[in-house]
Amino acid sequence: MSATKIIHAVPSDPLTGAISVPVYQTSTFIQEAPGVNKGFDYARSNNPTRKVLEDLVASLENGHGGFAFATGLAAIDAVLKQLSSGDEILAVDDIYGGAYRLFTHVYQKLGITVTYVDTTEIENVAKAVTSKTKLIWIESPTNPTLKVSDIQGIAQIAQSIGALLVVDNTFASPIAQKPLDLGADIVIHSGTKYIGGHSDLVAGLVITKTQELSERIKFIQNASGGVLGPWDCFLTIRGIETLDLRYRKQCENAMEVALYLAQHKAVAEVFYPGLKDHKNHEIAKRQQNGLFGGVVSFSLKKDDQESANQFVTATKYFKLAESLGGVKSLLCHPAQMTHASIPREKRLQAGIKDSLIRLSCGIEEVEDLVNDLKQAFEKVERAKELSFI
Ligand SMILES: *Cc1c(COP(=O)(O)O)cnc(C)c1O
Repeated sequence: MSATKIIHAVPSDPLTGAISVPVYQTSTFIQEAPGVNKGFDYARSNNPTRKVLEDLVASLENGHGGFAFATGLAAIDAVLKQLSSGDEILAVDDIYGGAYRLFTHVYQKLGITVTYVDTTEIENVAKAVTSKTKLIWIESPTNPTLKVSDIQGIAQIAQSIGALLVVDNTFASPIAQKPLDLGADIVIHSGTKYIGGHSDLVAGLVITKTQELSERIKFIQNASGGVLGPWDCFLTIRGIETLDLRYRKQCENAMEVALYLAQHKAVAEVFYPGLKDHKNHEIAKRQQNGLFGGVVSFSLKKDDQESANQFVTATKYFKLAESLGGVKSLLCHPAQMTHASIPREKRLQAGIKDSLIRLSCGIEEVEDLVNDLKQAFEKVERAKELSFI
């Protein structure tokens, strides 16, 4: 979907001609007679502002239906609620920390087994599926080590065993990647990140490929009730209007930042799918439309938490905060922040070292971002706390 199409897919108000989408701040809708209404009866079940957002994200992802939830995790939760005790999930090992916590500490207790595998090698997926696997859950690129998996290849495995493939498309955004076109069944987004784009809301989205899946998610959305409120729907719609512009600029900035880090003497590894030496660079190039995202992670040669702490408190433009995808650049230390709920041993297995730092590039001038990192390295070096050997 081109920028033109996205912008013009946001409808003006047919009643008044208002060019932006009205916020229908209402809990209920007057009925002419019992069951006779204008398509809306109660705001948990549906709301006109939410409907605009849901239709918009369905078309952004080339899906059948879109569903808006209070947070990304509420969206993930709605997808998992299709499962029954005894079912198995096969998930990417470098999964978002909050999803790991939900899978492990809520769903495992209800009799749903989760197996984590490195999905960057398709054979690992083929080997790990069983007759009970109902969901294959991947993120590509992952958070925070930017691992890339072959969505098309994994979709074929899912199809062959009758499992659903769910792709958390938060990092790629629908501008770079359309998992449903690559064979996935369900896409989820943390709308909090690129889609909202201004670090001013939390939201979650589910997009389904078929009518049957739409009906299931719609039922769960109404039955469990974790919907997104009308004001946040409005803000999310407004975010989507500039998504294409923002995302492309963030990708450009991230590429330059990754190249800068790759040649720095204090840096051990840089994780960015746009770098030619990234393990699955070719797959990323193919399935992400040549756009590699705004997140870059790196680890320090001096691989300890203290060195990472010094760095993340030394930047000026990169603000220390969880989250990503907004216009303002952020950085975080996953081991102590976003991924603190994952035990250290499991974190290390997934490549999340003690000194790993995650950058989310905003839309500032790239020279300012690179200079900010440069002065942070210098500050840390001057403090002689970090030895650059
Ligand atoms: C942030 C995030 C989530 C969770 O979304 P919330 O809106 O914070 O609930 C899920 N997946 C990924 C990849 C994320 O970055």
